[in-house]
Amino acid sequence: MTRLEKDFSLKKHNTFHLDVHAKFFVEVHSKEDLIEALNIPEARENKIFILGDGANVLFKSDFNGLIIKNSIKGIRTIEENDDHVILEVGSGVDWHELVTYTVNNNLQGIENLAFIPGTVGAAPVQNIAAYGQELAETFETLTAISIETGEEKVFTKEECEFKYRDSIFKGELKDKYFITQVRLKLSKHFKGVDTTYHSRYESLESELQSIATLPYKLKDIYNAVISIRKKKLPQVEEIGTIGSTFANPFITQEQLKELQKIVPHVQFYPINKMLYPKMDDPALIGLEVVKVPAGWLLEEMGYKGVRDGNVGTFPRHALCVVAYDGARGEEVYAFTEKMRGDFKKKYGITLKYEVNVI
Ligand SMILES: Cc1cc2nc3c(=O)[nH]c(=O)nc-3n(C[C@H](O)[C@H](O)[C@H](O)COP(=O)(O)OP(=O)(O)OC[C@H]3O[C@@H](n4cnc5c(N)ncnc54)[C@H](O)[C@@H]3O)c2cc1C
Repeated sequence: MTRLEKDFSLKKHNTFHLDVHAKFFVEVHSKEDLIEALNIPEARENKIFILGDGANVLFKSDFNGLIIKNSIKGIRTIEENDDHVILEVGSGVDWHELVTYTVNNNLQGIENLAFIPGTVGAAPVQNIAAYGQELAETFETLTAISIETGEEKVFTKEECEFKYRDSIFKGELKDKYFITQVRLKLSKHFKGVDTTYHSRYESLESELQSIATLPYKLKDIYNAVISIRKKKLPQVEEIGTIGSTFANPFITQEQLKELQKIVPHVQFYPINKMLYPKMDDPALIGLEVVKVPAGWLLEEMGYKGVRDGNVGTFPRHALCVVAYDGARGEEVYAFTEKMRGDFKKKYGITLKYEVNVI
């Protein structure tokens, strides 16, 4: 049975810890709860927003509608052979809890995605990725319920249109479907470790060397990723943040040349080395494109560890905007807009929000 709350504080339901209020709020624990919630008058008369753990949402102000908070749990094996296992996971399961479950059961495929905050249902929405792995690699299908009709639909990988930090659920089908279950295919055979991932600041290989011995095991990768993330990123229990506020920009070779005039030592990653099958900007299709690190470029501008009132950036990562006690949504948004404006002025490149600004 669902319980409708009114003028509900979302402080505990977004990792910026912003004390914004929702006009209406309901938490669902099953598909039945969800169908019931979609049929209440408040759902038909107001706009609806689906909320996981709020680890990728910036509420600019109070939400004048109905928030449906996802708490649909359960992990079960629906197929198993000598080679692989297919898990069906409730979309309200904690993502890191799922990764831990797979590693403890010697199932390979999502270990590099350890310690990413949020729910399983939000993972396909932005095709979560980290340390050279992305959700799309193990994704099989998902089940979702239409907010408008209440009908259930199974989406294949192709239908999800996964891209870099993007999917159809962030675009055309934004706020149209509530994802209830996700199926992932994981390998029972340990295929070894791809330790080639590195950035200017960190390397999976050197972290593995410092915490484990050869031959590396599945659990070693998991532990190495957690260890790097704890050193580099803010912990959401301690400080308000949503991690990376902006996505790394994709730019053309011409734009890169211009950028190199300003920052000659900028790192860049050729797009053909990346896994994303489709670009998110149609204007770039067919062009030779590179990805450049937004965090490092912001750091070059002096944006690491700055503070303006109740908002700032994390001292170890310029891309992580942090909200201090008492910060208001509009204050955080004004700060991120200033960052984007300054970035555009300095480099001529427009940053795209990775966080969902509501
Ligand atoms: C410290 C930190 C580090 C992070 N590191 C990474 C990283 O390395 N890689 C990465 O990819 N992300 C990272 N993130 C971002 C975040 O963890 C992911 O985007 C995560 O998937 C968000 O999950 P959530 O449940 O909190 O989603 P929410 O923030 O609640 O929602 C995000 C979006 O998904 C939609 N949504 C949520 N659940 C559903 C559902 N069941 N059905 C349909 N739509 C839904 C919401 O409406 C919203 O638009 C990081 C965040 C933080 C705070």
